[in-house]
Amino acid sequence: EAATNRIAAGEVVERPASAVKELVENALDARARRISVEIADGGRTLIRVTDDGHGIDADDLELALSRHATSKIDGSDLLNIHTFGFRGEALPSLGAVGRLTITSRAEGASEAAQIQVSGGRIAPPRPAALRAGTVVELRDLFHATPARLKFLKSERSEAMAVTDALRRLAMAEPGVAFTLRDVSDGGDRVLFRADAASDRAERLAAIIGRDFGANSLTLEAERDGVRLSGQAALPTYSRGNAVHQYLFVNGRPVRDRMLTGALRGAYMDVLAKDRHAVAALYLDCDPVLVDCNVHPAKTEVRFRDAGVVRGLIVAGVRHALAEAGH
Ligand code: ADP
Ligand code: MG
Repeated sequence: EAATNRIAAGEVVERPASAVKELVENALDARARRISVEIADGGRTLIRVTDDGHGIDADDLELALSRHATSKIDGSDLLNIHTFGFRGEALPSLGAVGRLTITSRAEGASEAAQIQVSGGRIAPPRPAALRAGTVVELRDLFHATPARLKFLKSERSEAMAVTDALRRLAMAEPGVAFTLRDVSDGGDRVLFRADAASDRAERLAAIIGRDFGANSLTLEAERDGVRLSGQAALPTYSRGNAVHQYLFVNGRPVRDRMLTGALRGAYMDVLAKDRHAVAALYLDCDPVLVDCNVHPAKTEVRFRDAGVVRGLIVAGVRHALAEAGH
């Protein structure tokens, strides 16, 4: 049982960035307004996520750690998902691959409680000190599975992947304040910071570049029930060699070759082949038109009609470019 848990856990937790993504998504689902992430040694020895969300009831702490326990859906509504989480897999997975400590104080509770799990073994909850919200601490990721440890890249690359995951979540949730700090060797260095923004454009400017707004086109298009919004840069805009292409489907950051291919197609006539257009595209549609359940980490999507989405992006971006005289 412990071994199968570890294998399943590996699918959700591939590296520190995937653990951070799961924990931050939980904080967002708990309606946090401020989320702070600390990592040490690229997240391998420590990941700590602190939020000011609604917290977990002391009586529910043990339940939160059991597989397929989720407070977010009742099973009847799998197609209508408005939260990031819905499988109840992240916390048990993290508890199987590292030493996990959750401290939380539910809204209105008179005290906080803490629970610890290591190697899948859960210690009973006990009272703890915390003013509000939740702190989840994951130490020594993959300590019991040296084979997985070997697959981690350098601390620098892992920290960069964590930063990237957080950047994407920050672009999905402009109103939430995020910080990421590297606390390796007792230090404290800010790796990423996004203050609460009043709208998406402000958040995009904070992350992509102050001049992105003035150098980009606002997208607004719809086709067969799929809506496209966001901003795409003028062909003259560049952020050096860094690839800044961000894609969101129903509020979730996703990666999808079809979508990046569509973007390339849209810019084909106005951008050199070796250049990547800077863009943040947000697609929204009825959840029945898209399957976000392809991969346990939920970063891949499958559209019912990929052609419609591809066409929407190509036409939407080209139309905006043409209006701007390109
Ligand atoms: P899921 O997010 O799919 O429900 P998880 O394993 O990620 O599953 O979390 C299990 C449960 O623990 C959640 O459904 C939620 O009730 C609770 N939970 C986890 N993290 C937090 C948090 N930061 N704040 C409040 N509740 C949380
Ligand atoms: Mg979750």
